[in-house]
Amino acid sequence: MRFSALRILQEGLTNNRGWRPHWRDPEPKGEYDIVVIGGGGHGLSTAYYLAKEHGLTNVAVLEKGYLGGGNVGRNTTIVRANYFLPGNSEFYSHSLKLWEGLEQDLNYNVMHSQRGLINLFHSDGQRDAFARRGNAMENQGDDAELLDREGVRRHLPYLDFDNVRFPIYGGLLHRRGGTARHDAVAWGYARGASDRGVDIIQNCEVTGIDIANGKVRGVQTTRGAIRAKKVAIVVAGRSGQVAAMAGMRLPIESHVLQAFVTEGLKPVIDHVVSFGMGHFYISQSDKGGLVFGGDLDFYPSYAQRGNLPMVEHVMEAAMTLMPMIGKAKVLRSWGGIMDMTPDGSPIIDKTDTEGLFLDCGWCYGGFKAVPGSGFSFAHLIATGEHHAPAARFRLDRFRTGVGLMDEEGTGAQHNLH
Ligand SMILES: Cc1cc2nc3c(=O)[nH]c(=O)nc-3n(C[C@H](O)[C@H](O)[C@H](O)COP(=O)(O)OP(=O)(O)OC[C@H]3O[C@@H](n4cnc5c(N)ncnc54)[C@H](O)[C@@H]3O)c2cc1C
Repeated sequence: MRFSALRILQEGLTNNRGWRPHWRDPEPKGEYDIVVIGGGGHGLSTAYYLAKEHGLTNVAVLEKGYLGGGNVGRNTTIVRANYFLPGNSEFYSHSLKLWEGLEQDLNYNVMHSQRGLINLFHSDGQRDAFARRGNAMENQGDDAELLDREGVRRHLPYLDFDNVRFPIYGGLLHRRGGTARHDAVAWGYARGASDRGVDIIQNCEVTGIDIANGKVRGVQTTRGAIRAKKVAIVVAGRSGQVAAMAGMRLPIESHVLQAFVTEGLKPVIDHVVSFGMGHFYISQSDKGGLVFGGDLDFYPSYAQRGNLPMVEHVMEAAMTLMPMIGKAKVLRSWGGIMDMTPDGSPIIDKTDTEGLFLDCGWCYGGFKAVPGSGFSFAHLIATGEHHAPAARFRLDRFRTGVGLMDEEGTGAQHNLH
């Protein structure tokens, strides 16, 4: 089934009776060449690129819940390529290029909107740091513009520029940054993978990983044992638990990150805006809700809900930056489990077990990485070689200390530094 303007017209005229489920719902087979554990954005994109780029279709994605129930459907949808450090820069740059062709590639409307991202700064020191970041972005081939205070005012007139504690000095504008509809990204990849022969199996929890003589043999699941030549762990906040099934202890802590959405409002915020003096970022969804988030809850947890002190902290930041938001009613809040690494950068690597691969540690920034991560992870699984843009995401950097990429200079927990 392909989507097109003609198809929509046809369906509109025939009571929408021709639409079909977007992906098949197969029973799990007893054996696959590759089993991908986790049907989030990263697992689904990995399966898609295994099939599309490498012709590997005897692949199953095993998801313990439903597609989109994890972080891929819980994030604040920000997509950007504004990283500073080598290792991250080239990876996110590659990922953004994949985003830019994604809707055509998947024939699926993921509502990717390059509405521009503005990171605000509030001191001379911060201006210097953002100027350096902007230069790094340009050196990487991405876009960046340093705005002074009046430049920001032209874009975001509703901000409180003269806040006594945190006056706005300017901002770094990344025009190609923006948002996408998060669950549509999962559905689009699922459909693309399923069409190419990948089995997407929901309600199938992996409960064990079978290993013999240092080699992976398959997985145990709530729907029976499945043999596999290769197994890929891509389970975000559950990475520590699933890797433990293979006897591994990962350098990962799981923490809750919360997000919020208001009632639908007329268009008021047409960029993505981030506050420089607190972890607060906001955009407006196409339905009109103001979507915003803050910082981690800062204690390890597997609960997909947050705590009230962080709610208060986020609301304070929102009111500091844009007092107009006080008139909006918050409709919902929710939490997702972040897989935090000690340096805040991800892992895409082989493990010491032959045939067992690992993709995790995306912290609170893995939505924008979905295309790039799937592409690079599929390359590693298929060829055994690291894909150049993700070549620095090695697991052993946490053992040796060589090659750490502490993008923000704060490690995984900002509050402890
Ligand atoms: C509130 C919030 C805001 C965020 N904002 C942004 C943002 O603006 N921009 C950005 O780039 N990133 C953001 N992120 C981060 C981003 O969402 C994550 O880094 C990314 O989605 C993680 O990868 P994933 O999509 O594969 O994870 P998930 O969707 O969580 O996928 C992992 C899947 O593995 C499954 N699983 C776990 N254990 C098992 C098992 N034993 N067997 C089978 N399946 C299993 C889970 O059910 C889950 O579906 C945010 C996250 C949150 C929670």
